[in-house]
Amino acid sequence: MLSIAIDGPSGAGKSTISRLIAEKLGFIYVDTGALYRTIALYMLENTVDTADAVSVTENLSRISIETKHDGLQRMFLNGRDVTEAIRRPELSLLASAVSAIPSVREFLLDTQRSFAQKNNVIMDGRDIGTTVLPNANLKIFLTAAAEDRAKRRYLEQKEKGFDVDYDSILSDINKRDYNDSHRAVSPLTRAADAILVDTTGNELEQSVSLLYNLIIEKLGLTK
Ligand code: C5P
Repeated sequence: MLSIAIDGPSGAGKSTISRLIAEKLGFIYVDTGALYRTIALYMLENTVDTADAVSVTENLSRISIETKHDGLQRMFLNGRDVTEAIRRPELSLLASAVSAIPSVREFLLDTQRSFAQKNNVIMDGRDIGTTVLPNANLKIFLTAAAEDRAKRRYLEQKEKGFDVDYDSILSDINKRDYNDSHRAVSPLTRAADAILVDTTGNELEQSVSLLYNLIIEKLGLTK
């Protein structure tokens, strides 16, 4: 099985780019952020304080997460389809909060690894190259300037019909960058053997073709 790890900060285009490339390569795209968002949604709906690591940990035993991959990654929380619900803007920071809790990361580790054992995958997240799949065949660290990432997120959320404003998205992105790179367990950091790709100023198509060509070349695949 082949695995490609794509890590980087929020809004660098990881999910859109990974999904399109997975389709071209016939790989399964795994969005690991969706797993953290699903846990955050459970805590929100059950009024569990995400700052209280003990309560969050106690509640993990009540959670079962399943995914279905049919081009899109559909998420199921205790049997309920939450694919759309986890995209609500307030879940971004809550996901970042629960993701700093070691028991949550541990809880999701096997799920993530088992995808890569059974399928050719492109997996995106924050710690895929460093922790989840340290032996991935290729690791990419995808980043872009915070303002660029905020602009993309703003346009994406607006298109989905959410009532959002640019400044709060930028501050949310800065907060998440800080949380994600300063947590004690599996912080967002570039693996020593990851290739750095900066998409600042790129159109989506440019980034997709840049990464696609890089993957083909590095893995010796044919187009
Ligand atoms: O990728 P997305 O923005 O949906 O992820 C939501 C949050 O989940 C991130 O801000 C990050 O805190 C957390 N996350 C993580 N490790 C991953 C994927 C996501 O900590 N592999």
